[in-house]
Amino acid sequence: MNIFWFRRDLRLDDNVGLFHALNADVEVLPIFIFDDSILSQLPKDDARVTFIHNQLEKIQSKFHEIGKSLAVFHGKPIAVFNQLISENNIKTVYTNSDYEPYARKRDLELFQLFKENEVEFKTSKDQVIFEKSEVVKDDGTPYVVYTPFSNKWKENFKKIQLINYNSEDYLEKISLHSYPFLSLKDIGFEASKIKIPTFDVSKNLIDNYEATRNFPSQDKTSYLGIYLRFGAVSIRKMILKALESKNETFLKELIWREFFMQILWHFPHTSKSSFRPKYDAIIWENNEDLFKKWCDGKTGYPFVDAGMRELNKTGHMHNRVRMITASFLCKHLLIDWRWGETYFAQKLLDYEQSSNVGNWQWAAGSGVDAAPYFRIFNPTEQVKKFDKELKYIKKWIPELETLNYPQPIVDHKEARERCLRVYKEAVG
Ligand code: FAD
Repeated sequence: MNIFWFRRDLRLDDNVGLFHALNADVEVLPIFIFDDSILSQLPKDDARVTFIHNQLEKIQSKFHEIGKSLAVFHGKPIAVFNQLISENNIKTVYTNSDYEPYARKRDLELFQLFKENEVEFKTSKDQVIFEKSEVVKDDGTPYVVYTPFSNKWKENFKKIQLINYNSEDYLEKISLHSYPFLSLKDIGFEASKIKIPTFDVSKNLIDNYEATRNFPSQDKTSYLGIYLRFGAVSIRKMILKALESKNETFLKELIWREFFMQILWHFPHTSKSSFRPKYDAIIWENNEDLFKKWCDGKTGYPFVDAGMRELNKTGHMHNRVRMITASFLCKHLLIDWRWGETYFAQKLLDYEQSSNVGNWQWAAGSGVDAAPYFRIFNPTEQVKKFDKELKYIKKWIPELETLNYPQPIVDHKEARERCLRVYKEAVG
């Protein structure tokens, strides 16, 4: 028997690894593992866990239609595989590649276990168009600036043919087995009250994306984030959608995603340290009271507060506002970008380590292709440009024009000058 291990590819259609597993002429046991090392760090009603479970239920109901079943486990992957190997005669484990530092370490350990047990481990590229070193400079080194990366990405894209892996057509190869399908309760979780937004990749949205994407009150972004994060949609299909439009701006965002993925792949240490080492010499204020006010949306800067309240309530924040809140934390409050990155990681439905770290380092000035540190967002000017009528802000701060709304916790001018001084001392 072979195994197909679902991870960040929670769908039956156009799933590369699943396609290969189902075409290997051996029965396939499909599994998912709720990894205890990850779950143990999350609140019991984490919305992403609910989302994952909902996706698994969708897969399960498709399997049930043909009298088959998905096996769902809870534990450490190494322990689960030890059990599966001891109970079955497993030839090959198929899965799709995962590029995050934790996943790479986990897979390396599993590879050892598989080797000792003469089990093959076959991974496929599924969650990106180009992985690892497939888009690099002519001298083989990675790009650290977006525009040339994106140009090379597009050049390489012209040379490939996107295949639709019709994995859903081979489900009869799924094996019969008696492993359980664990419920949320079985893994110690409960359903989240947060509603997951549906995504929109209509031609209309993509055609108008460039003009609308910067205005949070218009709410005209795709909400694809969580679907891409957990592979509930195929990136190849989304790229084809993007290409239906003459306007490239949406495609460029999907390329930003791959840009940051390859950065984390080549520079895994940037999940914890600055890409530009000098920036680790910044002496942060790290004031815990001010951090709490930022988290709670009580800084007295309406754009920042509206964004943080949107995040706390919905698990989503518009990109323009993510940039403003992140910049405010690092530059106005002089709080370490890692604190903000960790907070976003806890709250964002679409949390993706490579994008979160990449964008936070961009905001702090310490990352690849980051804006120079002396360019500091003015959170009040940003309102004039992007929420002139205060529609977005008032949605999240009903008490805006009352005495209940707090005074600014820092003075913009003083904070700006302090930031310039402290950054200059560290990076020269
Ligand atoms: P759309 O605007 O519709 O874009 C479509 C897709 O393109 C997104 O779903 C995403 O996959 C990709 N994309 C868009 N912008 C970016 C970007 N700047 N970097 C990388 N990919 C991008 N994005 C995440 O997916 N996960 C994160 O954890 C994350 N953290 C962020 C933290 C900060 C401080 C900032 C400034 C941005 C962050 N982003 C993150 C990028 C961006 O804000 C979100 O991808 C976007 O807001 C998600 O909403 P959407 O799906 O409607 O995006």
